[in-house]
Amino acid sequence: MGGSGWSALVDLVLPRTCAGCGLPGRLLCPRCAGLLARPHLATPRRFPEGFPPTVAAGAYEGPVRPAVLAFKERGRAELARPLGTALALAVAAVVAAVPGPAPERVLLVPVPGSAAALRERGRDHVRELTAHAVRELRAAGLPADSCRSLRRRGRVRDSADLSVAQRRANLAGTFALADGARPAAVDELIVLVDDVVTSGATLTEAGSVLAALGRPGGPPVLGAVVAATPREPARARRMNPPRRPDGPRPGSFRGSR
Ligand SMILES: [Zn+2]
Repeated sequence: MGGSGWSALVDLVLPRTCAGCGLPGRLLCPRCAGLLARPHLATPRRFPEGFPPTVAAGAYEGPVRPAVLAFKERGRAELARPLGTALALAVAAVVAAVPGPAPERVLLVPVPGSAAALRERGRDHVRELTAHAVRELRAAGLPADSCRSLRRRGRVRDSADLSVAQRRANLAGTFALADGARPAAVDELIVLVDDVVTSGATLTEAGSVLAALGRPGGPPVLGAVVAATPREPARARRMNPPRRPDGPRPGSFRGSR
């Protein structure tokens, strides 16, 4: 069977539908892709102290949720492309918000998954996203690279049924610097990347470990994610629309040390 015959058969058996809204046709329809092209500052509800300045490409609600879950939990690995593009957009936006000249290099550090999650999924979906985002950023002329500077330490309980405070305690000591981790060079920015930010506990914990690689007086460790849980549900936001856009503006983030 030729290549086109095979792909016709695959289409017949697995009809392509949008992973967000279910519309037949594309992997992610233009409308759903548009929901992931709205870079904004992530503001977790109980903003943890030390939460890194983080940009999300979209809000983790509506069709964005099933799209992310299809990629993460249901093995639709081909979504690494559109979701990685969204991550690249978030990285570019957070980097643009740092004052001063453009960085020589942007280092994307993926949040490492737990051993249990990696075993269960059989893949590291955040690394897949990171790899695609690096390609996109380079294609757009932003010198980007990825580095696995973090590793997980020991076992962590599943956090689904824990409160925010318990989650933080649960995460304390979760991450450590990996063997290959090296300090940031001058004109180099470190951006911690993950799929979704909800409570902000994971990025805060991982960011505090990564901060050891930053330069004294240099820019803070930044964060970029595909989607962030909105502070208010969509209905409340429609009733009280924000007076000004909440996206980061150039020069928003000062050095933290
Ligand atoms: Zn759609």
